[in-house]
Amino acid sequence: MTTAVVVGSGPNGLAAALTLAAAGVRVRVVEAADVLGGGTRSGELTLPGLIHDECSAMHPLGPGSAFARRFDLAGAGLTWRWAPAEFAHPLDGGRGAVVVRSVAGTAAGLGAGGRGWQRVFGPLTERFGTISEEFLQPVLHLPRHPFHLARLGAYAGLPATLLAHRFGSPEAQALWIGAAAHAFRPLNSLASSAIGVPLTASAHAFGWPVAEGGSAAIRDAVLVRAAEYGVRFETGRRVTSLDELGGPDLVMLDTSPAAAARIAGERMPAGVRRAYTRYRHGPGAFKVDYAVEGGVPWTHEGSRSACTVHLGGSVTEIAAAEQDVAAGRMPERPFVLVGQQYLADRTRSAGGGHPLYAYAHVPAGYTGDATEAITAQIERYAPGFRDRILAVHVRSTTEIGRHNENYVAGDIVTGANDPWQLLFRPRAALDPYATGVPGVYLCSAATPPGAGAHGMCGYNAARRALARL
Ligand SMILES: Cc1cc2nc3c(=O)[nH]c(=O)nc-3n(C[C@H](O)[C@H](O)[C@H](O)COP(=O)(O)OP(=O)(O)OC[C@H]3O[C@@H](n4cnc5c(N)ncnc54)[C@H](O)[C@@H]3O)c2cc1C
Repeated sequence: MTTAVVVGSGPNGLAAALTLAAAGVRVRVVEAADVLGGGTRSGELTLPGLIHDECSAMHPLGPGSAFARRFDLAGAGLTWRWAPAEFAHPLDGGRGAVVVRSVAGTAAGLGAGGRGWQRVFGPLTERFGTISEEFLQPVLHLPRHPFHLARLGAYAGLPATLLAHRFGSPEAQALWIGAAAHAFRPLNSLASSAIGVPLTASAHAFGWPVAEGGSAAIRDAVLVRAAEYGVRFETGRRVTSLDELGGPDLVMLDTSPAAAARIAGERMPAGVRRAYTRYRHGPGAFKVDYAVEGGVPWTHEGSRSACTVHLGGSVTEIAAAEQDVAAGRMPERPFVLVGQQYLADRTRSAGGGHPLYAYAHVPAGYTGDATEAITAQIERYAPGFRDRILAVHVRSTTEIGRHNENYVAGDIVTGANDPWQLLFRPRAALDPYATGVPGVYLCSAATPPGAGAHGMCGYNAARRALARL
């Protein structure tokens, strides 16, 4: 019987394990942390009864991915929940904008920017099912829908600040730039729209749902399926060398490229090792979870019903903050992403208290404390917020990297989204999952299609490994 060891139990490690096990491979998963799940963990970080997502929170590609469909995760107990609105962007003076599922409904709230919004996102949303099938694969593949992919590519290749000109009102422009900022890149740089365009189209096509009970429910559903195929697990064991794994036929590394190079050591061809050690990581995140009495008193009404709220003000302000972060300077007013998952999933709250999720973009490895900067950004758009805080839990870039070593220096997306790495991550190769060591594959978010708790990197890598067997 073919045997495999999967190193790391993030959503990609678990997806690889399940895909191999379903093909008849005997699979063992070895995880450094005491708890399985990597980026799909959740728990009571602030007060008893309040469930916080430790990493991944919103899952645009979760319900519709080929992996989720192939293993019927919904049938294994995973329930997706949607808030009334997908994401919002408050501005000073109570103004702001909000994305709801309908493109027309969103455009109607954008004034002069509505027409541009509809022109850009209408066609992409209509075809988002087929478009997402394309970009959830490695870049080098024969596209089944080249025209649709080209339309996405035409927008994705633009600097986000340039694409903002298509949206003719400050509200629509800010709404766009908040989505674009998920790229963790200077927003005036080439291809800085590459993450925001599909994310926004996905908000219209599928929404940005959360997992009922917390993101750990995604892990739990995969574990239900893994148990059906007899996958075995070991936690609290950090793998440092292939020699520790007992010579399985296949090894799937759910790790950063640099860690994969260390684990494979001299067995890895020098060219691959060089590429892996030169792999670039992006800026960091500084995360604060709050327990909040009665929710956030946003001045902008639309923000009160949105699962995600992007903070940072206008295009100019956010672009300047992201530029600072990329250059290693901490901005006074950073870009902040706020998660109000409890609006979609009431099981996460207790009494009058709600779990509020927030992180700021900060320089890689930032050693300062960004708690006050994050709280101040929320207070700016929701006066009185401070008085409602019952408890906080803080994770700096260092602590994020310690909690999960794939998030090098707080890089929560496991690799810079620069144009080269958007196309060729983790290196330029026909098979991006192959490490050059026979039977050993990289399957983490450092491989295509990149970050997110969708499991598609692990699913794709396992399918490549099976095809090569
Ligand atoms: C704060 C934050 C917010 C995020 N928000 C979202 C979001 O809203 N939506 C979304 O889709 N994604 C989000 N993400 C990103 C998402 O969580 C990751 O892209 C995803 O988890 C990557 O999955 P993975 O399997 O590649 O690796 P990970 O989930 O990072 O897991 C890797 C696992 O491997 C283990 N490991 C590493 N090295 C070793 C070793 N040597 N030996 C043994 N075990 C090892 C680690 O301990 C870890 O458990 C967020 C991440 C963070 C941190």
